Amino acid sequence: MIPALPVPVAALRNARLADGTVADVRLDGPLVVAVEPPGTTAHGAGLELDLDGFVLLTAPAEPHAHLDKALTFDEIAPPLGDLPSAIASFHTYAITADEHDIADRARRTLGRMLANGVTAVRTHVNFSPGPDALAGYRALATVRREFAGLVDLQIVTLPAEDTPDDVHEDAFALGADLVGGAPHLWPDPIAGTDHLLDLAEALGVGADLHADESLDGPVTLARFAERARGWSVGRSAGHCVRLGMLPEDELAVLVDAVRAADIGIIGLPITNLYLQGWEQPVATPRGLTAFRALIDAGVRVAAGADNVRDPFNPLGRCDPLETAMLLVAAGHLSPAEALHLVGDGARDVLGLPAAGPRTGAVADLLAVRAETATEAIAFASADRFVLHAGRLVAASVLDSRVAEPVRDVVLTATDPGAA
Ligand SMILES: [Zn+2]
Repeated sequence: MIPALPVPVAALRNARLADGTVADVRLDGPLVVAVEPPGTTAHGAGLELDLDGFVLLTAPAEPHAHLDKALTFDEIAPPLGDLPSAIASFHTYAITADEHDIADRARRTLGRMLANGVTAVRTHVNFSPGPDALAGYRALATVRREFAGLVDLQIVTLPAEDTPDDVHEDAFALGADLVGGAPHLWPDPIAGTDHLLDLAEALGVGADLHADESLDGPVTLARFAERARGWSVGRSAGHCVRLGMLPEDELAVLVDAVRAADIGIIGLPITNLYLQGWEQPVATPRGLTAFRALIDAGVRVAAGADNVRDPFNPLGRCDPLETAMLLVAAGHLSPAEALHLVGDGARDVLGLPAAGPRTGAVADLLAVRAETATEAIAFASADRFVLHAGRLVAASVLDSRVAEPVRDVVLTATDPGAA
């Protein structure tokens, strides 16, 4: 029986933690105040959940979404293809998309993410190519207000090369948090990178750039690292596919520069795997960033899904456990590393306070029905409880039945199944 939500939670009992131990987790308001052996937490006032059979994780954050584009795939029916073809398909659609349409799709996508355990999202937002350039920003500001207290939503600008600076600045008046952009797609990628970083510095805000989303294009990340050294505001770069293709010696120099500038790198496996490599039908490259080199060098790394059911990615479950699965299967990370990138690592890159089942951390938590953390990634059960700042904000209870197989059937020589 799921109570009316949201509801404050006082304790989580018998939860299996990622390291395999079983514990009771006591909450006080938005914080975890104790992680104790099972049965030792005193019963107090407030809701308690018995998490026997569940693994308890830090609630995932989605560090790179496009809520203004999500759920348009079926309506646009674009040809399957690479990044330029997806951009062209969406551009035609975006001319006529209005604020209410954008808000409706963003709302439905965010609801799915929340049900799966996501309590923080950073979305990039396009300037509309139609007459109402700021429709997406007003839509996302509305959706952010609606989800206040349920999901922390950050908004990043995504200007085109010809977006006027005054229009770009208007997005901040409507609530944008960070300067973004994809200067690797512009005619002069380095000048474009400088232009965006100049604007961030002038506004006194951070930057989260789409960087080097191609297998053999420019490397704007080096310029970003050079410019951001010494910054105190947020700085991160998404995609960085080009890093995965660089020769080892060049990659080592770039990774050093990224670490020195403390730029967080956001890898986006499902969308990168879908969009990259169409021109190479044989020995198709994976199109992922250099996860191993970045992690081993101590760079802050996060992972997300990027697009969901739009011309840039026809699929996607709004589920960070899908991203974690791809980090293991296609990125060759360990299951623990994969969970870190979609959980604690993503929160760190987004500049959010530490969360998870640890004393003193914010009680943003995801309980998934599973025996182990690796099984949680593998089966990604829909049976989940989601807490944001100590309140239960989503719960899904799966009712699934499978007919029992008949055991110990004795086969005779006349049975077609007999060997
Ligand atoms: Zn993106």
